[in-house]
Amino acid sequence: MRSLYVKFAVTTIGIMLISGLLAFMFSNFYYQQKLKPENDEKNTRIALDIADYVATEEDVQLEHYLEHVATVGYQLYVIDDDGNESYFGDPFREKSLSDNTITHVLGGNVYHGIAEFPQETFVTGFFANELKNTIGVPLQHKGTSYALFIRPDIELLFSEMHILFAWMLGLTIVLSIVFVLISTKYLVNPIAKLTKATDRLSKGKYPVKLDINRRDEIGKLAKRFTHMAEQLEKLDEMKNEFISNISHDIQSPLSSIKGYANLLEKNVQSEEDKKEYISIINNEINRLSSLTKQLLLLASIDRGEEFLNMTTYRLSDQLKEIIINHQWLINEKGIMIHYSLPDTDIHGDPSLLYNVWENLLTNAIKYNRENGMIHVSILETERYIEVHFKDEGIGLSDEVKKRIFERFYREDSSRTREIEGTGLGLSIVSSIVYLHEGHINVESDGKTGSKFTVYLPKV
Ligand code: ADP
Repeated sequence: MRSLYVKFAVTTIGIMLISGLLAFMFSNFYYQQKLKPENDEKNTRIALDIADYVATEEDVQLEHYLEHVATVGYQLYVIDDDGNESYFGDPFREKSLSDNTITHVLGGNVYHGIAEFPQETFVTGFFANELKNTIGVPLQHKGTSYALFIRPDIELLFSEMHILFAWMLGLTIVLSIVFVLISTKYLVNPIAKLTKATDRLSKGKYPVKLDINRRDEIGKLAKRFTHMAEQLEKLDEMKNEFISNISHDIQSPLSSIKGYANLLEKNVQSEEDKKEYISIINNEINRLSSLTKQLLLLASIDRGEEFLNMTTYRLSDQLKEIIINHQWLINEKGIMIHYSLPDTDIHGDPSLLYNVWENLLTNAIKYNRENGMIHVSILETERYIEVHFKDEGIGLSDEVKKRIFERFYREDSSRTREIEGTGLGLSIVSSIVYLHEGHINVESDGKTGSKFTVYLPKV
């Protein structure tokens, strides 16, 4: 019994058979205890009525009368004290009856053959067409004593129904077994399909398709499974893309470092060239270092909330500090910075949020035009603390806007190609903001700059 199908089918058929058996035993008990004595009593009354009638109506022809009784559905056996016997109605299958019983009835007693019929015989005993299974009463007619044995001709009443019932019962059993086998297959099939799909999934074979269209629990399970498989497929793709991006971003500074280090080794350059090469190598090392830092930060963010170090602190002071730290960069590009930072407290992880503001500010500087403007402001609304970073830089097209929060996404245009970057900054920003249960929005007409707004929930 290894497969679920066999287990289920065998259990169901077993339950059907056991309940059938129990129901039969129960009805048998009911018949033996209640119906049998009742039947006996009822038939005794009928037999006594017949005996009474025959005894009082001297004009009645005994044989005619008993024949008449037989035609309405009885089997009769009559014997007088001389031993003359006659049968009326359908013949008895088994005619044995002890002499004692006959003498007992001829002697004026009632014989309760129906009630005394053996217990071992199940309900079917009711149908036993035997002389023993009768009621015997004494009968007097025209001065002669008789013993009358009578039982309802159940076979007459039931013979056709009997066969019909037997057919019905047999058919019910066969049909229920067939239906159990079919319905079990219907129940178990999707599980087999799910198992196959799980196998495919565990071997990393995508896409995993399941043709299970059901509304029950298995249908729901199949739907969730398909959804999970799709997510895993996406994750797999993302992982591959991520690895190839990282490899590329690490490989290009490394080749550049190697190239310039080789040139320096040859020692044939002017002092000025050497300085330039060393500065390029330094820049590439810085790029690599900031890339690894960002990757480490992303990995920590991906670990989720347990990584958060929440506290309430003054947001406006943090923003001012960041602006001061970047003042030299702002001045270098001739950018004017305005800020409106009223005293505001916030509940969050200060070092993570520092990364958010720093990324948004450096982007506003990097992607700004010469002598452009930056406006940083805080706005407190009923539900949120909003932080705005508005610049007058190159702006963002609708196409780019949709993708800037993806990992490693960088706009590939002549305007952005010379600007240093990894394409990880904004994806880190949005992950941190979502970890704080906030959201980020970007507005830009594609020409005159962009505005990033971070919404953080108030506590
Ligand atoms: P990085 O700046 O390192 O390239 P980011 O994730 O910070 O990576 O930004 C992704 C892309 O979004 C940038 O390459 C740039 O094309 C665009 N972008 C980000 N901030 C701005 C901005 N303030 N103005 C115009 N474009 C921006």
